[in-house]
Amino acid sequence: MQFDYDPGNVFARILRGEIPARTVFENETALAFHDVRPQAPVHILVIPKGPYMSLDHFAAEATAVEQAGFMAAVAEVCRMPELEPGFRCIANAREIGGQEVPHFHVHILGGAPLGPMLS
Ligand code: ADP
Repeated sequence: MQFDYDPGNVFARILRGEIPARTVFENETALAFHDVRPQAPVHILVIPKGPYMSLDHFAAEATAVEQAGFMAAVAEVCRMPELEPGFRCIANAREIGGQEVPHFHVHILGGAPLGPMLS
């Protein structure tokens, strides 16, 4: 798989400070912020700061430091009081997977019973 990262995508623009985001956590290699169109009472996106398009791109090419930093950010988000009772984590990849923004991100949703995933 050839990964061709587009630096004009909206999350790259957030990382460059060109558009605002409601940040909940940041470390050296990852950023977590509120989704602008929440699908649950709490809907957080966690992204790496590096130019990775999707989960498989990130898993294949991100350094161990980047991967550890990303998972540390996920852990921090999951410690939010609203998410401690439970949450759902989703990563869409490419068009078939329903990915619209081509910068790797995980959705972390919670704050209410979410029901079955596929309905
Ligand atoms: P989908 O929109 O089908 O969930 P993705 O998995 O690519 O596709 O998710 C992109 C997410 O990014 C969407 O939930 C969308 O609401 C969110 N989003 C788009 N632009 C912004 C933004 N400027 N700030 C925060 N979230 C955003």
